[in-house]
Amino acid sequence: MERYSDRVNRLSYSQTFVMSNKVREMKAEGIDVISLTLGEPDFNVPTIVKQAAIQAINDNYSHYSPVPGFLDLRQAIADKLKRDNNLTYMPTQICVSNGAKQSIMNVLSALINDGDEVILPAPYWVSYDEMVKMMGGTSVFIETSLETDFKMTAEQLEKAITPKTKAILYSSPCNPSGSFYTYEELKAIATVVAKYPQITIISDEIYEYINYIGKHISIAEFPEIYEQTAVINGMSKAFAMTGWRIGYSACPEWLAKACDKVQGQVTSGPNTIAQRASIVALGLTKDDLSYMIDAFEKRRNLVYELMKDIKGFKCNLPKSAFYFFPDISYFIGKTINGTLIRDADDFAMSLLVNAHVGCVGGTSFGNPNCIRFSYAASEEDLIEAMRRIKEFTKDI
Ligand code: PMP
Ligand code: GLU
Repeated sequence: MERYSDRVNRLSYSQTFVMSNKVREMKAEGIDVISLTLGEPDFNVPTIVKQAAIQAINDNYSHYSPVPGFLDLRQAIADKLKRDNNLTYMPTQICVSNGAKQSIMNVLSALINDGDEVILPAPYWVSYDEMVKMMGGTSVFIETSLETDFKMTAEQLEKAITPKTKAILYSSPCNPSGSFYTYEELKAIATVVAKYPQITIISDEIYEYINYIGKHISIAEFPEIYEQTAVINGMSKAFAMTGWRIGYSACPEWLAKACDKVQGQVTSGPNTIAQRASIVALGLTKDDLSYMIDAFEKRRNLVYELMKDIKGFKCNLPKSAFYFFPDISYFIGKTINGTLIRDADDFAMSLLVNAHVGCVGGTSFGNPNCIRFSYAASEEDLIEAMRRIKEFTKDI
């Protein structure tokens, strides 16, 4: 007999993994599917980082680390935040976790009481709303649109704030829209938040380096809200280290202590080998990684051009991260091969089953009219995927 808790009953499966698992199953059946589902760089980990991991094994880094991570790793993170973002953090303000996913969960665990509200500009990354729910909080969504490049304004934010608002959680660069908040936009948001000292901004900057338009801005750079901000970042995207599971938060010290407390009861410090290797990785700069970023930019331009020829797809040119989030509402209400398309998730499934291209429906990202494609895939696969979709949609 199944005896789930209410908490688990409230929870949805992560759609990024649901769709990538479906692709895996179809591939196992011998079907030639192109997967643009999971967002992860298709590059290898830089050689010096791999060597550092091998060295760490040989040096017997095989015991528990301090719960928030090795001190020299936290210092390397503090140095990176100074170098790239002009942010000053002490190692005691940093907690290293099993991926940025756990870093976000730690911060939410530390902040959210039952009934507290967390503001999420939609579209948002799939796990945000589910994590808020797990903590007993309520997400309050701010609608955005293609016309505003899927970005909230400071005015929208202020309207969404209530006495119950505990946090605002967003990513810039944004997964799934590829949008990027400018200095002026973040300044306006910071000015609003500074008026409400009970609110913490959780600023997910994991795609920091994958930005094609210029310098990354962290909202923590505005001194008036430094004490109200938790910066989230990690090794997964910039260094193609998704499987190594290292992320981190940089917070005011009281919040960092709470992350340490939570993590100490849940997982302990993250994998020691990956931590040692991360110290070496953080010595690399955005320039050292430009070969990946240049390749992503080239692929983005390629897909953008090809997508223009696909019927029913409306999209802005994404400025950062490695996702397209086209509006496909043209197909909603139509019947494709006998199946009624009720929303973007149905359309994503139809693309998978009929065109053998995997993507993720937008509902779990907070927008049921859009689908998400990761373009962290080979040019060959991207060209073929767009060809299949164009062919499939041309008569609908
Ligand atoms: N934030 C965003 C916006 C993401 O896309 C991801 C996906 N990996 C994460 C956080 C979590 O990253 P990880 O746990 O691999 O560090
Ligand atoms: N963050 C990636 C994505 O959005 C990886 C999958 C996940 O962690 O949800 O596809």
